[in-house]
Amino acid sequence: MSVNDVPAVRDPSWPERVEIYDTTLRDGSQLEGISLTVDDKLRIAEQLDWLGVDYIEAGWPGANPKDDEFFARAPSELSLDTSTLVAFGSTRRVKGKVDSDDTLRNLLAANTSTVCIVGKSWDYHVLEALNTTLDEGVAMVADSVAFLAADGRNVMYDAEHFFDGYKRNPEFGMRVLEGAVQAGASRLVLCDTNGGTLPNEVERIVAEVVAYFGSDAGVAVHLHDDAGTGVANALAGVRGGAIQVQGTINGYGERTGNCNLTTIIPNLTLKMGIETIPRDRLERLTPVAHHVAELVNMALNPQAAYVGSSAFAHKAGLHVSAIAKRPDAYEHVPPDSVGNGTRFVVSELAGKSTLTLKAKELGISLDGPQLNDLVDTLKRMEHDGYHFEVADASLELLMRRATGWEQRWFEVESFRVITDDDDPLSAPVSAAGVTTEATIKVHVDGERVIATAEGNGPVNALDSALRSALGDRYPALASVHLTDYKVRVLDTARGTGAVTRVLVDSTNGERSWTTIGVSENIIEASWQALYDSLVYGLLLGHGLPDATGGQ
Ligand SMILES: [Zn+2]
Repeated sequence: MSVNDVPAVRDPSWPERVEIYDTTLRDGSQLEGISLTVDDKLRIAEQLDWLGVDYIEAGWPGANPKDDEFFARAPSELSLDTSTLVAFGSTRRVKGKVDSDDTLRNLLAANTSTVCIVGKSWDYHVLEALNTTLDEGVAMVADSVAFLAADGRNVMYDAEHFFDGYKRNPEFGMRVLEGAVQAGASRLVLCDTNGGTLPNEVERIVAEVVAYFGSDAGVAVHLHDDAGTGVANALAGVRGGAIQVQGTINGYGERTGNCNLTTIIPNLTLKMGIETIPRDRLERLTPVAHHVAELVNMALNPQAAYVGSSAFAHKAGLHVSAIAKRPDAYEHVPPDSVGNGTRFVVSELAGKSTLTLKAKELGISLDGPQLNDLVDTLKRMEHDGYHFEVADASLELLMRRATGWEQRWFEVESFRVITDDDDPLSAPVSAAGVTTEATIKVHVDGERVIATAEGNGPVNALDSALRSALGDRYPALASVHLTDYKVRVLDTARGTGAVTRVLVDSTNGERSWTTIGVSENIIEASWQALYDSLVYGLLLGHGLPDATGGQ
């Protein structure tokens, strides 16, 4: 029992439950440096569903081919248990007709039960940007909502620049909302698009809108973080009566980002006593934050509230023994409530207790000396640049090896990789003229096999060569394939002499896993990650070989 296990008491004026609407895939991907493939998007959606958000805004159909592909593949490739997919679009054009409007037609074609459409709610934008009348501004929203609602869709209206507009011309802002409600919108999404509004203003304005519309439509808030108050504004919006908060994992978004869901969710749940994601899934928050960070290939800010690796890290100092005895006296919430852990600044992993828990979860039994050795090994490896928080499969293999287990499916004697470029100065982006060939020597079933294969890069060539050497001995390998390969240079000051961390994501169609390799040599780092990936795939497919070497 932690001293922080105190149930939050909800003020009766606050909503009992707040819907969590994630827009990482649409608004979040506007952040400079983020470029998601359709596969990345599908995998992020899986993470969001596992976390238990209510809505996943997945993209803008018709705006780019990737989003179209996402919506086409989603029905067969995503099975969502808790979340509802939302397609995003805009209202019809000025003086246009709804039934011949491409954007609206694309929205319907995306085939989601819920759609969200953005439209102007600031008179200045209607008059200056759209160059039309205020009446037409209202009609564009109302007609579009009505058109989508008539098709049976749950329609949310995203009122762009609402707070800025309302501060200058509240009558017009309310007129647009009224038009949307009368046309059948289920949610009024009040947006602080420029992100400069402060919490006191958000609370007042949301309360006025909520008071006016009562139960006719739920009010949602969508808040950018330009004033550094995205999360604070969302809390203010909820105090004002908003029943939905929109935001992104890790606060991704253009400029300074969006309201950070990994902060607002625990704030609402743990501090305000408001229901958000299912209560027993709150502990998934940290793993999801880290997993999504890896998928977007951006290092997660260690100081991120609740989910950062430093969020509950205690540095040894004057109070070290007191902190070690009762860390909860120095923490604002129990770290495990959000899936994070107390950490003394020694190692990335919390140490024995975390490893003992992890071993229990995996059904691995470690005795005392094995556990001590493992802790030492992990500390050394993490110091060298390994990061096991995301490389779940490599960690599991390491833990199994600590018990004396060794994989006996194959033994690698050596490998060699050669890359040739017969025209190095031409076409820098294309791989034309570049060939990579890998040769591997493997002992398998008492036989020494040498295999060579070509690939579009070293990892691909090594993967093919090893598979070719193993032949069809292990059918489980056939379904294993690598889905992503990420490289991060850990010590940029050292240039090409720096240490490279490689992460390989793999799947067998049922499960996905991540493995890691670290080395000053990128091929060696890649090989370690690839080797672990294939061994893990064999472990899943063929089970643990017994100690005598049988399979
Ligand atoms: Zn936005």
